[in-house]
Amino acid sequence: MTNPFPTIQDLAEKNAGATSAFKPKLTLQGLMSRNAMAIISCMDPRADPKDFWGIEAGMPPAMIRNAGGRAADALRSLEILSALGEGLSAVAVVHHTHCGVGQHGIDDAHIKRTLPGRMKGSPSALGGKTWDSYKHQMEEESVREDMRLVLADELLPKDVQVLGFVLDVETNRTTEVRL
Ligand SMILES: [Zn+2]
Repeated sequence: MTNPFPTIQDLAEKNAGATSAFKPKLTLQGLMSRNAMAIISCMDPRADPKDFWGIEAGMPPAMIRNAGGRAADALRSLEILSALGEGLSAVAVVHHTHCGVGQHGIDDAHIKRTLPGRMKGSPSALGGKTWDSYKHQMEEESVREDMRLVLADELLPKDVQVLGFVLDVETNRTTEVRL
């Protein structure tokens, strides 16, 4: 199977963002002097907040991306943002349609069946691990579940605003979900 995309080595060799015209837009000091916002979204290239919300380089939201845009994976980062600068003011949870771990994707049972043929360790290493797929839910339900999980994290500021959205990858439109 040929890969039409550059390899990681190709990307690193090209390092296309490092032009002589590059000027850093932010400093750590600058970041530490204000509130933090965070967007949790899927690692899927179709679910990049830069694209669906037009976030440009140097804009402040921290983007936390993982399989499904699940909050369970993101709490550690949210807690750190809460301790930086002026703390964390707002979090957006974004799940998207046609997600690889959503309704049309794979579930934990599939992962448990597939990894033993590919993993370097013995299947017992899978243990009781779960991957937070949400094949059993509509995107709106998984967004609400994750909004509640963020709200329940006692290490986050008490006035943190938690918003939820579903991204339709066919239109790039986000629709707000309320608790
Ligand atoms: Zn996804």
